[in-house]
Parts: sequence; structure tokens; C-alpha cells
Amino acid sequence: MNTKYIFVTGGVVSSLGKGIISASIGKLLQARGYKVTIQKFDPYINIDPGTLNPYEHGECYVTVDGMETDLDLGHYERFTGIHTSSNNSITTGRIYKTVIDRERHGDYLGKTIQVVPHITDEIKRRMLREYEKDEQLDFVITEVGGTIGDIESAPFMEAIRQLRWQLGRDSVCVHLTYVPYLKAADELKTKPTQHSVKELQGMGIQPDILVLRTERHLDNALRMKVASFCNVDLECVVQSEDMPSIYEVPVSMQRQGLDAAILRKIGIPVGETPAMKAWHEFLNKQRRATREVHVALVGKYDLQDAYKSIRESLNLAGIYNDVKTKLHFVNSGEITPQNVAEKLKDMAGMVICPGFGSRGIEGKIIAAQYGRTHDIPTFGICLGMQMMVIEFARNVLGYVDANSAEMNDSTPHNVIDIMEEQKNITQLGGTMRLGCYECELVKGSRAWEAYGRETLIKERHRHRYEFNNQYLQAFESHGMKCVGINPAANLVEIVEIPQLQWYIGTQFHPEYSSTVLLPHPLFIDFIKACVHGTAKA
Ligand code: GLN
Repeated sequence: MNTKYIFVTGGVVSSLGKGIISASIGKLLQARGYKVTIQKFDPYINIDPGTLNPYEHGECYVTVDGMETDLDLGHYERFTGIHTSSNNSITTGRIYKTVIDRERHGDYLGKTIQVVPHITDEIKRRMLREYEKDEQLDFVITEVGGTIGDIESAPFMEAIRQLRWQLGRDSVCVHLTYVPYLKAADELKTKPTQHSVKELQGMGIQPDILVLRTERHLDNALRMKVASFCNVDLECVVQSEDMPSIYEVPVSMQRQGLDAAILRKIGIPVGETPAMKAWHEFLNKQRRATREVHVALVGKYDLQDAYKSIRESLNLAGIYNDVKTKLHFVNSGEITPQNVAEKLKDMAGMVICPGFGSRGIEGKIIAAQYGRTHDIPTFGICLGMQMMVIEFARNVLGYVDANSAEMNDSTPHNVIDIMEEQKNITQLGGTMRLGCYECELVKGSRAWEAYGRETLIKERHRHRYEFNNQYLQAFESHGMKCVGINPAANLVEIVEIPQLQWYIGTQFHPEYSSTVLLPHPLFIDFIKACVHGTAKA
């Protein structure tokens, strides 16, 4: 079968959950045995979201091949378990850069370079993944970020219009809109959806399928109204009601026949509905996991999306431990030696979050000390691990001025230092140590046990600073062990204190590779320790 293309656009408002719908479509087609990839096109001009503040854009998700991408790629991977790559996250900036570089190279000699056709051609080339000759995909799902009608997404819409014309039945357009409920009128309103579809039609795109986001159930009469006003079949008007968990969405979509509608539009026999046994088992486990375990998320961004993958990884790990992980954000900027006990007293464990720059780091160090001295399961990730190391250096090794060179480049005790390969780098975009690297685990360590006694693992990284090996002996002889080492570069990737219940820091980001059906072993082991601790209390 030649590749089919599904375009997912959104209207009315942002934050409707296009990423979840795209991931759900991917999951449902994958369950039918199709080879699928999901890619995201974002209209902003940054080359990638790597330099964006999480307050602007939420978490930056990192692919195995080291691309800093939109957090929706995290949903794609968690739902399908399929690795994405740098080709799955495209921005307007990347499109323009390619075209401008080509222009400088002389590839268009004599021509005026224009949005149409040069920019739109480059968008089409990437939507079709023409450069990936050997991929042999059945479906490419392309989610377009932003809301239709935005000035900056117009070239993407024009590219989709052209592709729909070119591909005919080999493509499907799924449009996500919002149906608000007006309390005063006690009514659900379809007008914003009608306007949004009109806007899309004005750009020459007729959606095949509408997914209506709603907080209340939509009856058939309302769906019929939308179908007839928007030129869409009734069976192609699907509703996406608020769910207790985002992982219920694929099942709800399947129940309403979203995947079947897509196949019918394309002209593929629908066949039997896949049972999705493993997914249902997971959902059942999730529904049964009601006992709560309280975990603190010590970080500086008071925003749900800033630590998206960590939050999801902890939730998943809870479910696999038959508990509901209840996360409590603790702002590290507000932690002091006086209030730390009060802030963390009811917590079964804590995660010290990644980050950049000095804001909030002293609070993370205080939290790490509290975790260490009160033997509370503590998981430090990237900057969190670095703060565990600094805390140990200051309070156990006695180097009161210990710090990371990132925060203080003249400290005599730079227990966290800039990596050799980073020293001459001046550009900030996409230049960190990024993507998957190997790590050798020390036999007998807690981390090694957690990984099921594997000796060589691969994890994703995003950092410039590292444990300073000059201090390795001092740390080890005082009880903080370096139990994960990169074999090629000899960099310390995991530290732990074996004397404590669970005190582990990782220089890498395990949260990027935890998926619904294959949750990450470190998170599972961490929550297990939290549950154990709670039972003891
Ligand atoms: N700022 C630290 C570094 O660059 C940690 C980065 C992170 O937490 N992702 O090494």
C-alpha cells in the first residue's frame, strides 16, 4: 500500500489536545497493524523549541537522535512506543532556513524566492517525508500547531490544500474544534465550529472528519447539525469529551469509530476492530489504582506543561505499582532551611527537577539535603542530580563553596563542571550534549537492580555540565557512589547513596523514554520505594 497522509488541524482555541488526538489516531492505526509515524509542524520561527522558556512553550522533549522538540512528540512516543526523530518536529524557522540556505547556495539561480511556491514546496516535501526513501510507512500523521486563521500558519494550510488536491483519497483532513457550553443559556454552542470550518473552507480545505472537544456530552441532534452545516458525514463527527485520563482517549475514539472513518475515507477495508488488550489492561490497572502516594516535584516552573514527561512518567509508574501518584509542586525558589520540613513533611518521596540557570537552585539543594538526612526517596534528574552532588559536597565533604560552574565559574570546588566538548561552543541553539548515549551500570547498585540487572543502557541527554571526575574518589569514599558511567567519555551519569532507601540522581532524562506500555524502570523503582516508605510511616 502506498503511504497515506492524515492532516490534523485545530480551530477556535488552542490547547484542545490536538497532540492527544494525533497520538490516539496513531495508536489506533498501529493497533490495526499499520506502520505509522506522527510529526508536528509548528508555525513559530525558532529553529526548534530548545531555547524557549518553558513558560512560553512547556517542556522541551528530546528525541533519541538529539533533536530538541515540541512536547507533543512526548505524547506520540508515550502512546505508540514508536521513536520519533529530528524529522518529526519542524518549525517555520527550519523551513525558511532550508530555503534560504539553498538560495545562498545558488539552487534557485535566477528565480524570485516566494512563500508560494518555495516555502510551501519545502513544507510539502517535509509533510511527504520525501527525503526518507526507505521508511515504507503506511500512514504519516501530520499535526499542525497553532489555530487556523493565524497569520503564521497560512503557508502550512496552503501546503495541505495543495497536497489534498495532489493526493486525492490518499489523504484525510481531521479538524479539531471546540463546542463551548454556555451556562446562562444552558446550551452547547456549535457556531464557533461552523466558523472554524468556514475559515478552513475559505483556504480551500474541506475537512473530512471533525473532532469536537467538549466538556459535556453532545447528542445526535447536535452532531447532525454540525455535520449538515459543515459538509461532513454524521459518522465523521466525533466528540472528545473530558476524560479522567488522556489514556482513555484512544479507546473513546475507537468506540466512536474514528479510525474506521479514516480508513473508509481513504478506501481501505475497515476489517475487525482490534482488541488492544494490553492497552485495556493498563486502563483497568489505572482505574483500580486509587490509593494515593504523595510525591513532591521540586522545581521552579509552576506550570503543568513544564515537567510534562516527568509528570507522566510518575503517573505511569504509580499505576504499575497499583497506586495513584499525587504530585505536589514545590517551588524551589521558596524553599528555605526553615520551611523545608513543613513543605516536604507529608511527602513519600520527591523528584528534584531539571533546569537551567541559578534561579531556585539553593532551594533544590536544601530539598536534596532534607531528602538525604531524612532518608526520603529522592530522585534527581539532570540539574536535580547536579544539586544532589553539590549538596553532598557542601554538607558531607565539607566544601562549603561547592557549586556548578554554570552558577559560579570561579568556585574552587567546581564539583559540577562544564564538559570539555562544550568549552569552545558559542552558539546556544542545539549545541548541548543531546540525545542517546550509552551508560554502563555498576553491578550490585540500586540502579542496576532497578534496570533488571542490565549492564549497558542507553538514555537521552540534554546538558552542558557534568560531574567533575577529580572529585570521584572523595564522593565514593564518603558514601555517594558513581554507579553509571558513559563508557566512551568516562562521564558520570548516575550517582546514588546505597545506605539510603532510594537516593539516586541521573545526569540523563529517563522521563523521555517512559511509555504507557513500557514504563521506565527507574520511575517504577522510585515509586515502589515511595510506597514502601508510606507503608512504614
Ligand atoms: N543546566 C544543567 C546543564 O546544562 C542541567 C540541564 C538540565 O537539567 N537539563 O548541565
